[in-house]
Amino acid sequence: MNILILGSGGREHALAWATLQNPKCDKLIVAPGNAGIAQIAECAQFDIDDGGTVAEFVSENAIDLVIIGPEAPLANGVADRLREAGVSVFGPSAAAAKLEASKSFTKEICDAAKAPTAAYGHFTDADAAKAHVHQTGAPTVVKADGLAAGKGVIIAETVEEAEAAIDDMFSGSFGAAGAEVVIEEFMTGEEASFFVLVDGDTCLPIGTAQDHKRVGEGDTGPNTGGMGAYSPAPIMDDAVTQKALDEIVRPTMAEMTRRGAPYQGVLYVGLMIENGQPRLVEYNVRFGDPECQVLMLRLGAQALDLMQACAEGRLEEAQVTWADDHAVTVVMAANGYPGPYQKGSRINGLDALANDSTNMMFHAGTASEAGQILATGGRVLNATARGATLQEARDRAYALVDGVDWPDGFVRRDIGWRALG
Ligand code: ATP
Repeated sequence: MNILILGSGGREHALAWATLQNPKCDKLIVAPGNAGIAQIAECAQFDIDDGGTVAEFVSENAIDLVIIGPEAPLANGVADRLREAGVSVFGPSAAAAKLEASKSFTKEICDAAKAPTAAYGHFTDADAAKAHVHQTGAPTVVKADGLAAGKGVIIAETVEEAEAAIDDMFSGSFGAAGAEVVIEEFMTGEEASFFVLVDGDTCLPIGTAQDHKRVGEGDTGPNTGGMGAYSPAPIMDDAVTQKALDEIVRPTMAEMTRRGAPYQGVLYVGLMIENGQPRLVEYNVRFGDPECQVLMLRLGAQALDLMQACAEGRLEEAQVTWADDHAVTVVMAANGYPGPYQKGSRINGLDALANDSTNMMFHAGTASEAGQILATGGRVLNATARGATLQEARDRAYALVDGVDWPDGFVRRDIGWRALG
Protein backbone atom coordinates (compact mmCIF):
# COMPACT_ATOMS: atom_id res chain seq x y z
CA MET A 1 0.00 0.00 0.00
CA ASN A 2 1.33 3.46 -0.94
CA ILE A 3 0.67 6.15 1.64
CA LEU A 4 0.96 9.93 1.61
CA ILE A 5 1.05 11.92 4.85
CA LEU A 6 0.55 15.70 4.71
CA GLY A 7 2.34 17.89 7.27
CA SER A 8 5.74 18.77 8.70
CA GLY A 9 5.59 18.61 12.50
CA GLY A 10 6.29 16.19 15.31
CA ARG A 11 2.75 14.92 14.82
CA GLU A 12 3.53 13.88 11.26
CA HIS A 13 6.89 12.33 12.24
CA ALA A 14 4.98 10.19 14.77
CA LEU A 15 2.31 9.29 12.17
CA ALA A 16 5.06 8.37 9.70
CA TRP A 17 6.90 6.27 12.26
CA ALA A 18 3.75 4.34 13.26
CA THR A 19 2.78 3.84 9.60
CA LEU A 20 6.19 2.34 8.86
CA GLN A 21 5.80 -0.17 11.73
CA ASN A 22 3.02 -1.80 9.72
CA PRO A 23 4.16 -4.27 7.03
CA LYS A 24 1.14 -3.21 4.95
CA CYS A 25 2.98 0.00 4.09
CA ASP A 26 4.99 -0.52 0.88
CA LYS A 27 5.88 3.09 0.25
CA LEU A 28 5.54 6.22 2.36
CA ILE A 29 5.82 9.81 1.14
CA VAL A 30 5.48 12.79 3.48
CA ALA A 31 4.86 16.32 2.21
CA PRO A 32 6.59 18.54 3.08
CA GLY A 33 8.15 16.60 6.02
CA ASN A 34 11.18 17.69 8.07
CA ALA A 35 14.75 16.51 8.71
CA GLY A 36 13.67 13.68 11.04
CA ILE A 37 10.98 12.44 8.68
CA ALA A 38 13.48 12.52 5.80
CA GLN A 39 15.55 9.91 7.68
CA ILE A 40 12.69 7.38 7.48
CA ALA A 41 10.59 8.33 4.45
CA GLU A 42 10.69 10.10 1.11
CA CYS A 43 9.73 13.79 1.40
CA ALA A 44 8.03 15.76 -1.38
CA GLN A 45 7.52 19.51 -1.73
CA PHE A 46 4.23 20.88 -3.07
CA ASP A 47 1.36 23.04 -1.86
CA ILE A 48 -0.45 20.76 0.60
CA ASP A 49 -3.26 23.31 1.11
CA ASP A 50 -4.36 23.06 -2.51
CA GLY A 51 -6.68 20.12 -3.23
CA GLY A 52 -5.98 20.06 -6.97
CA THR A 53 -2.21 19.91 -6.45
CA VAL A 54 -2.53 17.14 -3.85
CA ALA A 55 -4.91 15.13 -6.09
CA GLU A 56 -2.47 15.38 -9.00
CA PHE A 57 0.43 14.16 -6.85
CA VAL A 58 -1.70 11.29 -5.55
CA SER A 59 -2.61 10.15 -9.02
CA GLU A 60 0.95 10.42 -10.38
CA ASN A 61 2.36 8.43 -7.46
CA ALA A 62 -0.33 5.72 -7.23
CA ILE A 63 -1.15 6.65 -3.62
CA ASP A 64 -3.74 4.40 -1.94
CA LEU A 65 -4.32 6.34 1.28
CA VAL A 66 -3.79 9.98 2.26
CA ILE A 67 -3.41 10.90 5.94
CA ILE A 68 -3.91 14.60 6.58
CA GLY A 69 -2.06 15.90 9.68
CA PRO A 70 -2.78 19.63 10.11
CA GLU A 71 -6.05 21.58 10.08
CA ALA A 72 -5.32 24.05 7.24
CA PRO A 73 -5.65 21.54 4.34
CA LEU A 74 -8.81 20.16 5.98
CA ALA A 75 -10.40 23.60 6.31
CA ASN A 76 -9.39 24.20 2.66
CA GLY A 77 -11.30 21.15 1.44
CA VAL A 78 -8.32 18.97 0.47
CA ALA A 79 -10.12 15.86 1.82
CA ASP A 80 -13.23 16.69 -0.25
CA ARG A 81 -11.18 17.06 -3.42
CA LEU A 82 -9.46 13.69 -2.83
CA ARG A 83 -12.71 11.87 -2.04
CA GLU A 84 -14.25 13.25 -5.24
CA ALA A 85 -11.31 11.68 -7.07
CA GLY A 86 -12.04 8.33 -5.38
CA VAL A 87 -9.00 8.39 -3.08
CA SER A 88 -9.14 6.95 0.46
CA VAL A 89 -8.46 9.80 2.82
CA PHE A 90 -8.09 10.05 6.58
CA GLY A 91 -9.46 13.50 7.51
CA PRO A 92 -12.82 15.27 7.49
CA SER A 93 -14.49 17.34 4.77
CA ALA A 94 -14.33 21.15 4.91
CA ALA A 95 -17.95 21.18 6.09
CA ALA A 96 -17.12 18.84 9.00
CA ALA A 97 -13.84 20.69 9.70
CA LYS A 98 -15.97 23.69 10.73
CA LEU A 99 -16.08 22.00 14.13
CA GLU A 100 -12.58 23.44 14.57
CA ALA A 101 -12.69 26.38 12.16
CA SER A 102 -15.71 28.09 13.79
CA LYS A 103 -16.33 28.21 17.52
CA SER A 104 -19.87 29.61 17.15
CA PHE A 105 -20.74 26.77 14.73
CA THR A 106 -19.54 24.22 17.29
CA LYS A 107 -21.51 25.84 20.09
CA GLU A 108 -24.62 25.80 17.95
CA ILE A 109 -24.12 22.10 17.09
CA CYS A 110 -23.66 21.37 20.81
CA ASP A 111 -26.95 23.15 21.56
CA ALA A 112 -28.75 21.08 18.94
CA ALA A 113 -27.14 17.88 20.26
CA LYS A 114 -27.70 18.86 23.92
CA ALA A 115 -24.01 18.19 24.59
CA PRO A 116 -22.75 19.63 27.90
CA THR A 117 -20.51 22.66 27.29
CA ALA A 118 -20.01 26.21 28.64
CA ALA A 119 -22.96 28.61 28.33
CA TYR A 120 -22.19 31.22 25.66
CA GLY A 121 -23.26 34.12 23.52
CA HIS A 122 -21.92 35.07 20.08
CA PHE A 123 -21.59 38.59 18.76
CA THR A 124 -20.67 40.55 15.67
CA ASP A 125 -20.35 43.92 17.39
CA ALA A 126 -18.44 45.08 20.45
CA ASP A 127 -21.29 46.88 22.25
CA ALA A 128 -23.54 43.83 22.33
CA ALA A 129 -20.61 41.66 23.45
CA LYS A 130 -19.79 44.09 26.29
CA ALA A 131 -23.42 44.30 27.37
CA HIS A 132 -23.41 40.49 27.63
CA VAL A 133 -20.26 40.55 29.78
CA HIS A 134 -21.82 43.18 32.07
CA GLN A 135 -24.74 40.85 32.56
CA THR A 136 -22.78 37.62 33.13
CA GLY A 137 -19.77 39.07 35.02
CA ALA A 138 -16.21 37.70 35.35
CA PRO A 139 -14.26 35.49 35.12
CA THR A 140 -15.32 34.87 31.55
CA VAL A 141 -13.75 33.64 28.33
CA VAL A 142 -13.53 35.77 25.18
CA LYS A 143 -12.81 33.89 21.94
CA ALA A 144 -12.26 34.94 18.34
CA ASP A 145 -14.62 32.76 16.31
CA GLY A 146 -12.17 31.52 13.67
CA LEU A 147 -8.76 29.81 13.57
CA ALA A 148 -6.20 31.88 15.49
CA ALA A 149 -3.54 29.24 16.25
CA GLY A 150 -4.46 29.06 19.93
CA LYS A 151 -3.99 32.82 20.40
CA GLY A 152 -7.62 33.85 20.01
CA VAL A 153 -8.74 32.84 23.51
CA ILE A 154 -8.57 35.25 26.45
CA ILE A 155 -9.50 34.17 29.97
CA ALA A 156 -10.65 37.49 31.47
CA GLU A 157 -10.48 37.70 35.27
CA THR A 158 -12.40 40.99 35.36
CA VAL A 159 -15.12 42.70 33.31
CA GLU A 160 -12.54 45.37 32.30
CA GLU A 161 -10.18 42.68 30.96
CA ALA A 162 -13.06 41.16 29.01
CA GLU A 163 -13.93 44.56 27.53
CA ALA A 164 -10.32 45.11 26.47
CA ALA A 165 -10.24 41.65 24.85
CA ILE A 166 -13.48 42.37 22.99
CA ASP A 167 -12.10 45.68 21.69
CA ASP A 168 -8.88 43.96 20.64
CA MET A 169 -10.71 41.23 18.73
CA PHE A 170 -13.03 43.63 16.92
CA SER A 171 -10.10 45.96 16.12
CA GLY A 172 -9.07 43.59 13.36
CA SER A 173 -5.95 42.17 15.04
CA PHE A 174 -7.26 38.64 14.42
CA GLY A 175 -8.33 39.33 10.83
CA ALA A 176 -11.34 37.39 9.63
CA ALA A 177 -11.08 35.09 12.68
CA GLY A 178 -12.14 38.01 14.91
CA ALA A 179 -15.14 39.23 12.89
CA GLU A 180 -17.31 37.24 15.26
CA VAL A 181 -16.64 36.78 18.97
CA VAL A 182 -17.87 34.05 21.29
CA ILE A 183 -18.15 34.76 25.03
CA GLU A 184 -18.24 31.72 27.25
CA GLU A 185 -18.89 30.87 30.85
CA PHE A 186 -15.58 30.13 32.59
CA MET A 187 -15.52 26.41 33.41
CA THR A 188 -13.52 25.03 36.33
CA GLY A 189 -12.13 21.50 36.59
CA GLU A 190 -9.31 19.47 35.04
CA GLU A 191 -8.70 19.36 31.29
CA ALA A 192 -8.06 16.24 29.26
CA SER A 193 -7.95 15.36 25.56
CA PHE A 194 -9.94 12.44 24.24
CA PHE A 195 -9.28 11.02 20.76
CA VAL A 196 -12.02 9.26 18.83
CA LEU A 197 -11.99 7.88 15.29
CA VAL A 198 -15.25 8.51 13.48
CA ASP A 199 -16.31 7.14 10.08
CA GLY A 200 -19.67 8.83 9.85
CA ASP A 201 -21.43 6.11 11.85
CA THR A 202 -19.09 4.44 14.27
CA CYS A 203 -17.14 6.26 17.02
CA LEU A 204 -14.05 4.36 18.21
CA PRO A 205 -12.03 5.79 21.13
CA ILE A 206 -8.27 5.45 20.58
CA GLY A 207 -6.83 7.09 23.66
CA THR A 208 -6.62 9.96 26.09
CA ALA A 209 -3.87 12.44 26.90
CA GLN A 210 -3.06 15.54 28.87
CA ASP A 211 -1.13 18.43 27.39
CA HIS A 212 0.92 21.21 29.01
CA LYS A 213 0.04 24.47 27.26
CA ARG A 214 2.00 26.98 29.33
CA VAL A 215 5.68 27.57 28.68
CA GLY A 216 6.78 27.55 32.33
CA GLU A 217 7.03 24.87 34.99
CA GLY A 218 4.00 24.58 37.28
CA ASP A 219 1.84 25.73 34.32
CA THR A 220 3.00 29.35 34.40
CA GLY A 221 3.82 31.92 31.71
CA PRO A 222 2.33 32.40 28.25
CA ASN A 223 0.47 29.77 26.24
CA THR A 224 2.33 27.71 23.65
CA GLY A 225 1.41 25.09 21.07
CA GLY A 226 2.10 22.52 23.84
CA MET A 227 5.28 21.77 25.84
CA GLY A 228 4.65 18.09 26.49
CA ALA A 229 1.98 15.45 26.96
CA TYR A 230 1.32 12.08 28.49
CA SER A 231 -1.10 9.26 27.82
CA PRO A 232 -3.34 7.91 29.27
CA ALA A 233 -4.96 10.75 31.24
CA PRO A 234 -5.83 9.27 34.66
CA ILE A 235 -8.87 11.56 35.01
CA MET A 236 -10.44 9.88 31.97
CA ASP A 237 -11.58 6.79 33.86
CA ASP A 238 -14.12 4.41 32.33
CA ALA A 239 -17.13 6.32 33.67
CA VAL A 240 -15.95 9.73 32.41
CA THR A 241 -14.97 8.21 29.05
CA GLN A 242 -18.38 6.62 28.63
CA LYS A 243 -20.14 9.88 29.55
CA ALA A 244 -18.00 11.84 27.09
CA LEU A 245 -18.92 9.35 24.34
CA ASP A 246 -22.63 9.11 25.15
CA GLU A 247 -23.37 12.72 26.05
CA ILE A 248 -20.93 14.67 23.86
CA VAL A 249 -19.25 12.79 21.00
CA ARG A 250 -22.05 10.55 19.67
CA PRO A 251 -24.80 13.21 19.80
CA THR A 252 -22.64 15.82 18.04
CA MET A 253 -21.52 13.33 15.39
CA ALA A 254 -25.17 12.33 14.80
CA GLU A 255 -26.06 16.02 14.47
CA MET A 256 -23.29 16.51 11.88
CA THR A 257 -24.61 13.55 9.88
CA ARG A 258 -28.18 14.90 10.16
CA ARG A 259 -26.94 18.17 8.65
CA GLY A 260 -25.36 16.41 5.70
CA ALA A 261 -21.78 16.79 6.96
CA PRO A 262 -20.87 13.35 8.35
CA TYR A 263 -17.52 13.35 10.12
CA GLN A 264 -14.70 11.10 8.94
CA GLY A 265 -11.30 11.17 10.61
CA VAL A 266 -9.94 11.66 14.10
CA LEU A 267 -11.91 13.89 16.43
CA TYR A 268 -9.92 15.60 19.15
CA VAL A 269 -12.28 16.21 22.03
CA GLY A 270 -11.01 18.82 24.51
CA LEU A 271 -12.83 18.28 27.82
CA MET A 272 -13.15 20.01 31.18
CA ILE A 273 -13.95 17.47 33.90
CA GLU A 274 -15.36 18.34 37.30
CA ASN A 275 -16.91 15.92 39.80
CA GLY A 276 -16.89 13.14 37.20
CA GLN A 277 -18.83 15.22 34.65
CA PRO A 278 -17.11 16.03 31.34
CA ARG A 279 -18.03 19.19 29.42
CA LEU A 280 -16.77 20.11 25.97
CA VAL A 281 -14.13 22.86 25.72
CA GLU A 282 -13.41 22.45 22.02
CA TYR A 283 -13.24 20.09 19.11
CA ASN A 284 -10.22 19.86 16.84
CA VAL A 285 -10.52 17.99 13.58
CA ARG A 286 -7.05 16.37 13.63
CA PHE A 287 -4.61 14.85 16.09
CA GLY A 288 -3.17 17.23 18.65
CA ASP A 289 0.53 18.02 18.52
CA PRO A 290 2.23 16.82 20.81
CA GLU A 291 -0.58 14.44 21.93
CA CYS A 292 -0.29 12.48 18.68
CA GLN A 293 3.30 11.55 19.55
CA VAL A 294 2.30 9.71 22.75
CA LEU A 295 -0.73 8.09 21.10
CA MET A 296 1.30 6.79 18.14
CA LEU A 297 4.03 5.38 20.35
CA ARG A 298 1.37 3.48 22.31
CA LEU A 299 -0.63 2.30 19.28
CA GLY A 300 2.32 1.36 17.06
CA ALA A 301 1.59 -0.59 13.86
CA GLN A 302 -2.17 -0.85 14.48
CA ALA A 303 -2.49 2.94 14.01
CA LEU A 304 -2.35 2.42 10.24
CA ASP A 305 -5.01 -0.31 10.28
CA LEU A 306 -7.27 1.97 12.34
CA MET A 307 -6.77 5.03 10.13
CA GLN A 308 -7.36 2.92 7.02
CA ALA A 309 -10.55 1.39 8.49
CA CYS A 310 -11.71 4.91 9.35
CA ALA A 311 -11.00 6.20 5.83
CA GLU A 312 -12.84 3.23 4.29
CA GLY A 313 -15.88 3.40 6.61
CA ARG A 314 -15.09 0.06 8.27
CA LEU A 315 -14.64 1.16 11.89
CA GLU A 316 -17.49 -1.05 13.05
CA GLU A 317 -15.24 -4.08 12.58
CA ALA A 318 -12.09 -2.39 13.96
CA GLN A 319 -10.68 -2.96 17.43
CA VAL A 320 -7.96 -1.31 19.45
CA THR A 321 -5.54 -3.65 21.21
CA TRP A 322 -4.44 -1.89 24.35
CA ALA A 323 -1.12 -2.44 26.04
CA ASP A 324 -1.14 -1.54 29.71
CA ASP A 325 1.48 1.15 29.19
CA HIS A 326 2.14 4.87 29.50
CA ALA A 327 3.87 7.33 27.21
CA VAL A 328 5.36 10.78 27.73
CA THR A 329 6.60 13.34 25.24
CA VAL A 330 8.74 16.33 26.23
CA VAL A 331 8.92 19.20 23.76
CA MET A 332 12.38 20.72 23.24
CA ALA A 333 11.85 24.34 22.20
CA ALA A 334 14.13 27.12 21.00
CA ASN A 335 15.21 29.62 23.70
CA GLY A 336 12.76 32.53 23.63
CA TYR A 337 9.76 30.49 22.42
CA PRO A 338 6.82 31.32 22.38
CA GLY A 339 8.29 34.82 21.90
CA PRO A 340 10.94 35.61 19.28
CA TYR A 341 13.67 32.98 18.89
CA GLN A 342 16.74 32.38 16.74
CA LYS A 343 16.59 29.96 13.84
CA GLY A 344 19.46 27.90 12.50
CA SER A 345 21.19 26.77 15.71
CA ARG A 346 23.00 23.41 15.60
CA ILE A 347 21.70 20.33 17.38
CA ASN A 348 24.20 17.58 18.22
CA GLY A 349 23.97 14.14 19.77
CA LEU A 350 20.84 12.92 17.98
CA ASP A 351 22.56 9.99 16.25
CA ALA A 352 23.60 8.38 19.54
CA LEU A 353 20.09 8.34 21.03
CA ALA A 354 18.06 5.17 21.63
CA ASN A 355 15.70 4.77 18.68
CA ASP A 356 13.24 1.88 18.96
CA SER A 357 9.58 1.28 19.70
CA THR A 358 10.12 2.48 23.29
CA ASN A 359 12.27 5.58 22.80
CA MET A 360 11.75 7.97 19.88
CA MET A 361 13.03 11.45 19.22
CA PHE A 362 10.42 12.89 16.88
CA HIS A 363 11.42 15.99 14.93
CA ALA A 364 9.18 19.04 14.63
CA GLY A 365 11.03 22.18 13.49
CA THR A 366 14.27 20.83 12.04
CA ALA A 367 16.17 20.96 8.78
CA SER A 368 19.31 19.19 7.63
CA GLU A 369 22.22 21.06 6.08
CA ALA A 370 25.40 19.28 5.04
CA GLY A 371 24.63 16.42 7.42
CA GLN A 372 24.05 18.78 10.37
CA ILE A 373 20.62 19.04 12.03
CA LEU A 374 19.51 22.65 12.55
CA ALA A 375 16.61 24.08 14.56
CA THR A 376 14.19 25.91 12.29
CA GLY A 377 11.10 26.38 14.46
CA GLY A 378 9.89 27.25 17.95
CA ARG A 379 9.03 23.70 18.95
CA VAL A 380 11.91 21.67 17.58
CA LEU A 381 12.13 18.11 18.98
CA ASN A 382 9.80 15.78 20.87
CA ALA A 383 11.53 13.33 23.22
CA THR A 384 8.96 10.54 23.43
CA ALA A 385 9.10 7.31 25.44
CA ARG A 386 6.94 4.46 26.71
CA GLY A 387 7.07 2.61 29.99
CA ALA A 388 5.15 0.27 32.26
CA THR A 389 4.44 3.28 34.49
CA LEU A 390 4.17 7.00 33.85
CA GLN A 391 7.30 7.52 35.94
CA GLU A 392 9.29 5.06 33.83
CA ALA A 393 8.07 6.65 30.58
CA ARG A 394 8.95 10.07 31.89
CA ASP A 395 12.44 9.04 33.06
CA ARG A 396 13.13 7.59 29.60
CA ALA A 397 11.84 10.73 27.84
CA TYR A 398 14.12 12.95 29.94
CA ALA A 399 17.04 10.57 29.30
CA LEU A 400 16.52 11.28 25.60
CA VAL A 401 16.42 15.03 26.32
CA ASP A 402 19.66 14.77 28.30
CA GLY A 403 21.38 12.98 25.41
CA VAL A 404 20.91 15.99 23.15
CA ASP A 405 23.53 18.70 22.94
CA TRP A 406 21.61 21.87 22.07
CA PRO A 407 22.52 24.93 24.17
CA ASP A 408 19.98 27.04 22.28
CA GLY A 409 16.98 24.98 23.42
CA PHE A 410 15.03 24.36 26.63
CA VAL A 411 12.42 21.99 28.07
CA ARG A 412 9.93 22.00 30.91
CA ARG A 413 11.24 19.55 33.53
CA ASP A 414 7.82 18.81 35.04
CA ILE A 415 5.85 17.10 32.25
CA GLY A 416 3.34 14.77 33.89
CA TRP A 417 3.38 16.53 37.27
CA ARG A 418 -0.38 16.51 37.66
CA ALA A 419 -0.68 12.75 37.22
CA LEU A 420 2.44 11.96 39.27
CA GLY A 421 1.30 14.18 42.17
P1 ATP B 1 -5.83 25.70 20.92
O1 ATP B 1 -5.60 25.88 19.45
O2 ATP B 1 -4.69 26.14 21.77
O3 ATP B 1 -6.38 24.35 21.29
P2 ATP B 1 -8.18 27.24 20.65
O4 ATP B 1 -7.87 28.54 20.05
O5 ATP B 1 -8.82 26.23 19.80
O6 ATP B 1 -6.91 26.73 21.36
P3 ATP B 1 -9.81 26.65 23.00
O7 ATP B 1 -9.29 25.27 23.05
O8 ATP B 1 -11.24 26.88 22.86
O9 ATP B 1 -9.06 27.54 21.94
O10 ATP B 1 -9.27 27.34 24.32
C1 ATP B 1 -7.89 27.29 24.70
C2 ATP B 1 -7.77 27.00 26.19
O11 ATP B 1 -8.47 28.00 26.95
C3 ATP B 1 -8.41 25.69 26.61
O12 ATP B 1 -7.53 24.62 26.46
C4 ATP B 1 -8.76 25.97 28.07
O13 ATP B 1 -7.63 25.81 28.90
C5 ATP B 1 -9.12 27.42 28.06
N1 ATP B 1 -10.58 27.58 27.91
C6 ATP B 1 -11.25 27.71 26.77
N2 ATP B 1 -12.57 27.83 26.99
C7 ATP B 1 -12.74 27.77 28.32
C8 ATP B 1 -13.87 27.87 29.19
N3 ATP B 1 -15.09 28.08 28.72
N4 ATP B 1 -13.65 27.77 30.52
C9 ATP B 1 -12.41 27.61 31.02
N5 ATP B 1 -11.30 27.54 30.26
C10 ATP B 1 -11.45 27.61 28.92
